[in-house]
Amino acid sequence: MALLEVLKYPDPRLKKRADEVIRVDGGVDGEIKKLVSDMVDTMYFEKGIGLAANQVGSDKRVIVLDVPEARRQERYGDITEEKRHKKGGNLIVFVNPVVVEASGELKNEEGCLSVPGVTSEVKRASSIVVRGLDLEGVELEIRAEGLLAVAIQHEMDHIDGKLFIDRLSRIKRDIIKRKLKKSVGAL
Ligand SMILES: [Zn+2]
Repeated sequence: MALLEVLKYPDPRLKKRADEVIRVDGGVDGEIKKLVSDMVDTMYFEKGIGLAANQVGSDKRVIVLDVPEARRQERYGDITEEKRHKKGGNLIVFVNPVVVEASGELKNEEGCLSVPGVTSEVKRASSIVVRGLDLEGVELEIRAEGLLAVAIQHEMDHIDGKLFIDRLSRIKRDIIKRKLKKSVGAL
């Protein structure tokens, strides 16, 4: 088990778009597997429900999530499965995720391990379909709704170099940025 440091706003690495992971025989290479394992440890340690690789200083398109009580439909090849899990049994690892369908609208109060002490209401799609690879390099498709859909979109923003505060109105964002600068200055 290894815990990684979670980068905090305004670290410039949080603003960088992450790179695609190259698929190798047998899934992804050992370096990515180690990264994922450390990211999962760090997410649980920090009590987050999601974490993106660039939050821990990696430039790879990898996200991990564990949204309690989330419902989702998963498809591996031809097998579709309806899943409902409790916290800790709901781990999702997505390599190179892409949103292929999005619909509806949902406002939810979001927070972020990289923007500590701040939450704000963000508008997102309420239902999404995401495709990517799992750690074995198998294509994984997840149909998600509600909080899980929100969490996936939040993490996918991270790997595009975007924070949830970038989705707020300019006025709201400026207020939050001023607050954050003050608290950084106080440390
Ligand atoms: Zn975040």
